[in-house]
Amino acid sequence: MLLRFGLNAEIVFNKDIAPEAANAVGAVVLEANELLFRRGVPAEVSENEVGRITDWSVSGNTLSIKIESGPYTRAHDAFLRFKKAVTPVMGKHRLGVRGIEVRNFSISMKGEIPKSAIPKLPMISDVTIEEDGIVLHLSLSLADLEKKLPDRLVKLVEEKIEAEAYGGKAEHWELLYESPKRPLHYDKNPSDELLKIGWAKHGASRGQWIFGPQAVELIRALETIAVEEIIKPLGYKEMIFPKLVPWDVWKQSGHAKGVYPEIYYVCAPKSRDPAYWEDVSDYYKVTGDVPVEMIRDRIEGPIGGMCYAQCPPFWPFVKGETLSNGCLPIKVFDRSGTSHRYESGGIHGIERVDEFHRIEVLWFGTIEQTVRTADLLHEAYTRIFDEVLELEWRCAKVTPWFMAQEGLVGVSDTSSVGTRDYEAILPYNGDWLEFQNVSVNGNKYPKGFNVKIQSGEECWSGCSGIGLERWTAAFLAQKGFDRSKWPESVLKLVGEPEDVFEFL
Ligand code: ATP
Ligand code: ZN
Ligand code: MG
Repeated sequence: MLLRFGLNAEIVFNKDIAPEAANAVGAVVLEANELLFRRGVPAEVSENEVGRITDWSVSGNTLSIKIESGPYTRAHDAFLRFKKAVTPVMGKHRLGVRGIEVRNFSISMKGEIPKSAIPKLPMISDVTIEEDGIVLHLSLSLADLEKKLPDRLVKLVEEKIEAEAYGGKAEHWELLYESPKRPLHYDKNPSDELLKIGWAKHGASRGQWIFGPQAVELIRALETIAVEEIIKPLGYKEMIFPKLVPWDVWKQSGHAKGVYPEIYYVCAPKSRDPAYWEDVSDYYKVTGDVPVEMIRDRIEGPIGGMCYAQCPPFWPFVKGETLSNGCLPIKVFDRSGTSHRYESGGIHGIERVDEFHRIEVLWFGTIEQTVRTADLLHEAYTRIFDEVLELEWRCAKVTPWFMAQEGLVGVSDTSSVGTRDYEAILPYNGDWLEFQNVSVNGNKYPKGFNVKIQSGEECWSGCSGIGLERWTAAFLAQKGFDRSKWPESVLKLVGEPEDVFEFL
């Protein structure tokens, strides 16, 4: 895409700029255009692609600067370089910078840019649509220039164009393994049956279940198989990861780029003084209604959300650290609490819910260790699903949206980056249900959380999410409730179902 940047800025000094000082500015401008802005730019790049001060003037205590550029030493970079060069020169004339005002900033992008790729952001004050592209007019501060905000905006537009091209197919899908067919034992939706026989009931919140003792015996039996037959034998150690995730963690994990539609947000009260809340409780006592609007006034904006993906809140444990060769690969897992996702209209049975239970397996080390660890895990899963749980299942390589988005796809040595989805057939509707996955996430997390390894090699990580509701749904959908059809491995972990509740 053809890019042009334009900037008008004013540097205001503590007193009027005398003619000698103005002459000095002229010299700095010349040097900037000839040398300073060419620094780091390949020699073959033509002059009009590089940042250039195209106009400047002095009036009273104010120096006005106009800069234009193509993609090299972009107008904002050029301005910062100029500012750094001119400040000491003006100092010699006893002039100190009192303020900097960015008057105009424009980015012209040539190419086919669909309207939907133009972001709606408060710093974009105006958009001009031209025949061969667009011009974004920005209102920016000096701090925005320092944060390279114009570069990020360009990248965002490019990503949006790419996402559009990627289209509805959010994932690339490629079959890796398909298990033998299994005899059909059951053809109903097990969630309906769980409700009917009273083993589980809907929770009071949307997409939430209360599992009774009989259902939990099965869920825990499956969990035990996962932990005792797969995770522990492979050397993973249990940890407890937090379940309330603040923005900082999601910024570093990358989730802050797109997780918003599915988060359960968390807010803290503005004060814990009972007097601050007295009218809220009084209102409830008198009306019997909880006054949500009054509460909204008394809570802070969300500090983050409930656990969405299980591994991001682990990473602060190793953030900024260098791990010794001897301890690698690190292999840990967490099963300490619930995950929460706003699935909206998608909720279905026990398998697609807003509150679920998952074991998260996490590992990291060198690239080789990380890929090998994922392969070993895959082998163990295959053995368990085929020989122990006797499921009809398949495994496919998928490329999740964030990898596609971050341009990792197709880059030469990242072919092992990606996710393997494990799917089980649901005989009652013929659909395949993703019941877990294994991901090799490349350097995404180690980079985001600044984690290094002793050898200085690139650090990679992986994770695997075992959804217990999904395992249970897959198991019951295929095996049904007649225990004579259950594999021995599960039977020996569950007792005879006992009715603890007797409703009159
Ligand atoms: P889906 O495409 O089915 O929504 P996903 O791609 O969103 O799944 P991941 O983000 O890969 O799922 O989550 C990892 C695992 O967490 C899944 O394999 C599944 O076991 C579990 N999981 C995710 N969302 C839910 C949910 N809403 N209810 C129950 N389990 C879930
Ligand atoms: Zn994970
Ligand atoms: Mg999902």
